[in-house]
Amino acid sequence: MQLILFGAPGVGKGTQAKILSAKLIIPHISTGDILRQAVKEQTDLGKKAQETMNRGDLVPDDVMVGIIKERLNKLDCKNGFILDGFPRTKIQAVALDKLLKELNINRIAVINIYADEKELIKRLNSRRACKKCGNIFSLEKIDGLDKCPNCDTENSFYLRDDDKEDVIRKRFKIFKSTTIPVLNYYQERGKVISVNGIGSIEDVNDLILAELWN
Ligand code: AMP
Repeated sequence: MQLILFGAPGVGKGTQAKILSAKLIIPHISTGDILRQAVKEQTDLGKKAQETMNRGDLVPDDVMVGIIKERLNKLDCKNGFILDGFPRTKIQAVALDKLLKELNINRIAVINIYADEKELIKRLNSRRACKKCGNIFSLEKIDGLDKCPNCDTENSFYLRDDDKEDVIRKRFKIFKSTTIPVLNYYQERGKVISVNGIGSIEDVNDLILAELWN
């Protein structure tokens, strides 16, 4: 199964993608995670992308398409994959169509997770990431903890630069101007499943799976 998880920053794409990846046994491909890893390792890509990401801007399309092309050609994508954070522009969506054709994939399901913007801004501003494993937690969940619940690293929580309020607002602006057209692109092709992202993680996941099997 090939899936695209679409939605605004903070709507829970990454969380849902991880669960779906485990349940469906297909890889979760997060372009944000790939870029953050490159920044951490200070590769050429990481050095180039770092400032752009910290500002909340988008990394150039040709760079992103190159990353996805390389990733989808790996063996573990043979039986399917979940894209999280890609495509984010119409140019990327068109490039993905071309790539899927080359890979003989003729169907991809688009899951649009939606939620109110004010709620999402509140969520993003009150979430923290682990420096070591990159997992994201709400402040409530880690209240009083000094170790990451996922990887046990001590004192590893931090506020991502791109989760700071002014950057969040910029990310939403770009989402509306540049990424929403991607949703329209797939809607014109009749390929979108929409799911309400407000609710427990499990409930949202059940909704997605129910829609997929429908
Ligand atoms: P994310 O974790 O998906 O919110 O991505 C974090 C940041 O990585 C974004 O704010 C962008 O700067 C960059 N990024 C991730 N995916 C893409 C993409 N498909 N196109 C352009 N930039 C991206």
